[in-house]
Amino acid sequence: DLITEQEQLFLARTAHSRRMREASANVLAGGVASSWQDAPPGAVWIDHGAGSRVIDVDGAEYVDLHGGFGVALVGHAHPAIVAAVSDRVRRGTHFAQPTADAAAVARALANRYGLPLWRYNNSGTEATMDAIHLMRVAAGRPKIIKVEGTYHGHHDSVQVSVYPSLAAAGPSSRPRSVPGSRAIPAAVADLTVVVPFGDLGAVERALVEHRDEIAGMIIEPIMMNIGLVPPPPGYLASLRDLLHRHGAYLAYDEVKTGLAVAPGGAVEWSGVMPDLVCLAKALGGGLPCGAIGGVPALMGLIATGEYEQVGTFNGNPLTMAATRVVLTEVLTADAYAHFDRLRARMVTGATRILRGYGLPGHVRAYGAKGAVIFHEKLRNYRDFLDYPDQWGNAHWLYQHNGGVFLPPWGKCEQWTLSVQHTVEDADRFLVNLEHLAADLL
Ligand code: PLP
Repeated sequence: DLITEQEQLFLARTAHSRRMREASANVLAGGVASSWQDAPPGAVWIDHGAGSRVIDVDGAEYVDLHGGFGVALVGHAHPAIVAAVSDRVRRGTHFAQPTADAAAVARALANRYGLPLWRYNNSGTEATMDAIHLMRVAAGRPKIIKVEGTYHGHHDSVQVSVYPSLAAAGPSSRPRSVPGSRAIPAAVADLTVVVPFGDLGAVERALVEHRDEIAGMIIEPIMMNIGLVPPPPGYLASLRDLLHRHGAYLAYDEVKTGLAVAPGGAVEWSGVMPDLVCLAKALGGGLPCGAIGGVPALMGLIATGEYEQVGTFNGNPLTMAATRVVLTEVLTADAYAHFDRLRARMVTGATRILRGYGLPGHVRAYGAKGAVIFHEKLRNYRDFLDYPDQWGNAHWLYQHNGGVFLPPWGKCEQWTLSVQHTVEDADRFLVNLEHLAADLL
């Protein structure tokens, strides 16, 4: 009943969004620009963003913790980004030739990550695809390992066992490779071996069963598409050693964690250096930038031509101008101290509310990212399958109707703080959570 009431409120607040959708659905397939923009309870059309806020076409202003699916670590219309991009626009935005910013960005990334060699592309999907291609070329082997329930983008090798149904998923210790849709042929899915998160034994079994066939493993070092799940202690270091012992490589998908959980992402956070890192989302400061960085054994194959890493828009000058400013002027040590302060306030406040009202949940947060997890022990995808939808939905609706925009499917995603968020923004989140808790009593 509470959810229905909140849905009615949402529909009333977003009437113009629905009119926009209806008016465009005959030309814009499905009435949105990307299918996940249509998550329940419905797409919210945005007019503009400013600082920590977004303003929708109905004129409502929201504290933006959606961050465009985790992109907006810099917030919206950050003056330093606006200046750099405006300057670049005046000097031309695309030549398909390198500009000085491309080298400056690589230098900044090498400093943050301690990985020497970098290349660009335009999205997280391209970054994980390049990483998998590189591991295959370097190892001379066809298969990869991925974790059940992780999303690494929409190319074929990783559109496998992303959110499989329990019926399709097979035994929990030996998950099946389930094609994500009819777009993915079973023959392609068979090249992706699926393991449970945090289970070294399963990886070892896969390496032995597919001996000399596994090129490497791609993993989100902190899982961020089933809520927020950190790895068990020691897991990442042992995983890297295990893979190396079997002649296979380790790639971190840091599309979400990159720059967000620490200046050097999950590499710094975990203290474990993989062979490759994939970045996207926050990297471009709101422009579409992806990147791969790695050790010479893999990234060196680009210079030799054994792997042609290409793309018309790779290193696009506009994107590079914004990315340079993100790395050198916006995400400074002060920015990370700011994330730490706001995160501490949200974690402490939300924990107090959950405990005070006896709600079944806890808070997990790293750097600029965090989530209220309404599940007692979320460790992997099988646990996630019994995470009740209604908790995520109710929390999302209470936040939205209270003026805080969280990413959709309350239970899958997490908040993203920006350098422009304030203590008042954090407190608005806490007020809405308390409102939910009080109504449930
Ligand atoms: N990897 C992870 C961990 C992601 O969360 C996403 C997107 O949400 C991707 C890869 C794909 O990135 P993109 O949507 O930029 O292709």
